[in-house]
Amino acid sequence: MIITRTTDEQQAWSAAARSEGRTIGFVPTMGFLHRGHATLIERVRPLVDELVVSIYVNPLQFGPTEDLDRYPRNPDGDAALCQSFGADCLFMPSTLYPPDFATTVAVAGLTTGLCGASRPGHFDGVATVVTRLFGLTQCQVAAFGEKDYQQLAVIRRAVRDLALPVTIVPVPLVRDVDGLALSSRNVYLSPVERARALSLSRALHWLAEHAPGQPAASVLAEARAMLDVDQLDYLSLVDADSLAPLDHVDRPARALVAAFVGKTRLIDNVAVG
Ligand code: AMP
Repeated sequence: MIITRTTDEQQAWSAAARSEGRTIGFVPTMGFLHRGHATLIERVRPLVDELVVSIYVNPLQFGPTEDLDRYPRNPDGDAALCQSFGADCLFMPSTLYPPDFATTVAVAGLTTGLCGASRPGHFDGVATVVTRLFGLTQCQVAAFGEKDYQQLAVIRRAVRDLALPVTIVPVPLVRDVDGLALSSRNVYLSPVERARALSLSRALHWLAEHAPGQPAASVLAEARAMLDVDQLDYLSLVDADSLAPLDHVDRPARALVAAFVGKTRLIDNVAVG
């Protein structure tokens, strides 16, 4: 596995592979890799000739009070994991943008609710970095986890609207044995906080069982009472495709939650119906 550290190196590596007719798959990440990330790599590996993983903590998608500076890092462990799962190229740039970078990719509509409401500008940062990474890696296939369900919808829309020549492969959310959605941020949780954080997946699974056919407000009130969190950003039932809030759970839906346990913001979601 080769490690590229600048945008020029990555572009040159990808251009050489493409000029030899080799297909490129891509898994973008922010590092501190876990089994969820490994599942994305495993999913793309058999689809392509060359597999690129990127590790970049993208400042554009962090708000001024968020955890950009303390986001966990483990470059050596990440490189070992990528190699063991068969990556051909690990792109680890220290910076991704030229000093006069001036472009924003903004997806309207899908980004107004849920995490878009509690993290203003977040999805502009995500859509912008992913579009730039697609250009740099010249990938034809890219995997995104359903863990970030709204992000996946935003990327799919940007790819469709901008006619980007990349096939998006969605990967189901991977949980720890106790039900907690795997996340790099779980390392922030104390043992007590981690036990409280399990209330997120419990409330979501309760909704998956009890929400179909029901008015959303009543089941959401019951599920909200199950949460043991310090700040709830949202607990919502939305249309699985449009992400529009539902009054009545009468179609394929998604239950999503974002909440702080201690100082750690956690997200999770499940399919409903
Ligand atoms: P991150 O490093 O957190 O930005 O995540 C990089 C990619 O891995 C995104 O597409 C995430 O949705 C995906 N991912 C992170 N955690 C999980 C998980 N527990 N299950 C599935 N995919 C995940």
